[in-house]
Amino acid sequence: MPKTIITGEDIEEIARQGGMALPTGKDIVFTDLAYEKAVRLGVNLNSPDAQNAPSSPVRPYLTPKFPARAKEEAPIPTVPTRSGERPGHLRFLPGYSEVELREAIIETGKIAYQSGLMISNDGNISVRMPDQHILITPSGVCKGRIAPEDLLVIDIHGNLIQAAADPSLKASSEQPMHLEVYRQRPDVRAIIHTHLIFANALVISKNKIRMDVIPEAAAAFGSVPVTEYALPSSIQNAEVIRGLIGYHDVILIRNHGCLAVGKDLDSALIHVERLEHIAKTLTFAELLGTVNALPPELIQGLIPTPRSR
Ligand code: 13P
Ligand code: ZN
Repeated sequence: MPKTIITGEDIEEIARQGGMALPTGKDIVFTDLAYEKAVRLGVNLNSPDAQNAPSSPVRPYLTPKFPARAKEEAPIPTVPTRSGERPGHLRFLPGYSEVELREAIIETGKIAYQSGLMISNDGNISVRMPDQHILITPSGVCKGRIAPEDLLVIDIHGNLIQAAADPSLKASSEQPMHLEVYRQRPDVRAIIHTHLIFANALVISKNKIRMDVIPEAAAAFGSVPVTEYALPSSIQNAEVIRGLIGYHDVILIRNHGCLAVGKDLDSALIHVERLEHIAKTLTFAELLGTVNALPPELIQGLIPTPRSR
């Protein structure tokens, strides 16, 4: 019996028409691009009879059937076209859907990876959705090369709400640290953890990142605390940030990396970029010789009012 192949074009047609019934029967195959477009366009593939469909229900579907089609599809552009149309893509707009938040995480991973801020399979990203569930990156994969359906949904206790399309993918091993932040900080909707080269090097060598040399450092952060050492991917990371995250949006985890939080992914990513830029400048200044600090009264005037719980 020939298989009915559902392509990305079929999914686009479903989205254009506001929904359609998928064919029924056991011989339905979805292409990879069909999955990707379904997540991106908010099309539900959960037909009761459909095989291999991811579980991201969004829109009901109506009738006609699709002819079997086996032709090659053009690849989807690496950067979703929608982000080009919406410059505020990482700044969560009111009413952002899960589909858009998934895209924002993928985009953040790509930016961080391509800028050298998140390399190899290091780091993790999460966002808090309007229903309070957490969308989080999978463990042990490169976050610059993941797709929307690779993300997982968990609740504030770490229970799995929705698996990734590939069931072998598990939620980030640093989820206890992310959940600690969301529990303490209702204002936080996005978290980035990454292993920054220069920021890490300064902590390893100097035990701190100086705030008295570059005005943006004092103005943006006031101070960036360094935690006790915690074994990466262990529950200890939640413990070492516990007493600090109520007062700081950026924390350095000793000999490991940084944790940056924000009201959206744009602000968390700006913290990461700024911290590494400051650390890089300080490192070069140290290598060149004398480091000239700014007068203390000038620094004091720049430091923002500390966050209170
Ligand atoms: P995950 O891939 O499990 O998110 O862990 C990466 C990491 O940075 C561990 O500290
Ligand atoms: Zn880490």
